[in-house]
Amino acid sequence: MVLKFTEEQEMFRDTARRFAQKEVEPVANQIDRDERTPTVLYQRCAELSFYGLYTSEEYDGLGKNLTSACLVLEEISKASPSLGGLLSVQIVLCPATLDIAGSEDQKRRYLSAAARGEKAMAWSSTEPSGTCYHRAHQTRITRDGNGYRLSGVKIFCTQGEAETYLVFGRSEADGKVGYGGVIVEKSMQGLQPAPYEDKLGWRGTNTGTVNYNDIYIPAENLIGDFYTARSDVGLANSMGSLGHCASSLGCLEGLFDKTVSYVKDRELYGGPMSRLQPISYWLAEIWAKMEACRAMLYAVTQAYDAGRPAPVHASACKAYLCDTVAECTGKLLQMWGGAGIMNSTGVNRYFRDARAKMVAEGSSEIHYDIVASTVLGIPSHVSFDMN
Ligand SMILES: Cc1cc2nc3c(=O)[nH]c(=O)nc-3n(C[C@H](O)[C@H](O)[C@H](O)COP(=O)(O)OP(=O)(O)OC[C@H]3O[C@@H](n4cnc5c(N)ncnc54)[C@H](O)[C@@H]3O)c2cc1C
Repeated sequence: MVLKFTEEQEMFRDTARRFAQKEVEPVANQIDRDERTPTVLYQRCAELSFYGLYTSEEYDGLGKNLTSACLVLEEISKASPSLGGLLSVQIVLCPATLDIAGSEDQKRRYLSAAARGEKAMAWSSTEPSGTCYHRAHQTRITRDGNGYRLSGVKIFCTQGEAETYLVFGRSEADGKVGYGGVIVEKSMQGLQPAPYEDKLGWRGTNTGTVNYNDIYIPAENLIGDFYTARSDVGLANSMGSLGHCASSLGCLEGLFDKTVSYVKDRELYGGPMSRLQPISYWLAEIWAKMEACRAMLYAVTQAYDAGRPAPVHASACKAYLCDTVAECTGKLLQMWGGAGIMNSTGVNRYFRDARAKMVAEGSSEIHYDIVASTVLGIPSHVSFDMN
């Protein structure tokens, strides 16, 4: 690969690679089959300091480096795209949200605990009315004395049984409407975590419906400003998309490596399958696309790390990379013939995880809507304007 990383970034990547090969790969099929991630893997990620990769040192993290976090997510996802996707929420999306929009007190209380791997966080925004059509969202944050009240139903929440939930909804007071965010703790009265829901891919976590039943939120748990928190965290959201892209890329690379070994070993028409011209051509074509995706992803993460955030590029990357990964994993699975359809070979989970990743963290169409608004200079449908 022609990309250059720092020595420290390579060290994180190598640590994650060893962890993925030795500890994740042996249980990756089990994670997919049982729809559960073994607790020991969460603990090991804490021991290896992965949860604090993006968080700054003053909150028990390792120093705010999005590229390092993405390299780790990419390596883990080669073995289990499902675990990698879950970690992306824990390592990038939620910490970045608190880092950008959280108060000093919130960072001390929630960010530090998350960086040490003690408290899992969830990001709860999607509603039955759609992900980004905020005007139609039904979840309400209203004032109650010195604090607030939260009521609503959120769907498709990854890590639906977390310790801490970052929840977004319409904020309404004195006839004015905005889009705010609050922090909900597991122990708060009125929280109903998500039950497990059977799903096609990304099966190592429960992604489900969380009910917030008239929960009292203390004043100090409001994220940012009452009316506008969600637009502040749009930036954090774009970083979450990049973490998700790293996991998606690892998903493709994991299946690619397994497929290369397979076509070299498999005998077909009296010789290795890899000598068939369409197979070698497809592999070369997928390799080229994989390199293009990698170059795009790390160009954007390095811009963020250099203090030049690029949310539209992050959206373009999310849509293009996840679409490409879904297309290429389909083609790679085809090379396995019937063996790829059988669960015993443990490869069709990559194809299913890639498909789930195309929808999660904002579907491709939603991200292209954001890109189109820049290209055409028109407003995006993905807007936080509540009027
Ligand atoms: C495995 C998984 C994990 C998830 N985890 C989380 C999570 O942790 N937290 C969270 O809040 N959400 C989460 N989501 C929700 C996810 O972000 C949404 O499912 C996704 O953005 C699509 O939104 P939707 O399901 O509401 O589809 P809808 O909004 O109902 O859209 C249906 C279709 O219309 C298309 N569409 C929507 N808007 C446009 C547009 N403007 N232009 C063109 N086409 C459009 C969509 O792409 C889709 O194909 C998760 C989803 C999945 C599948």
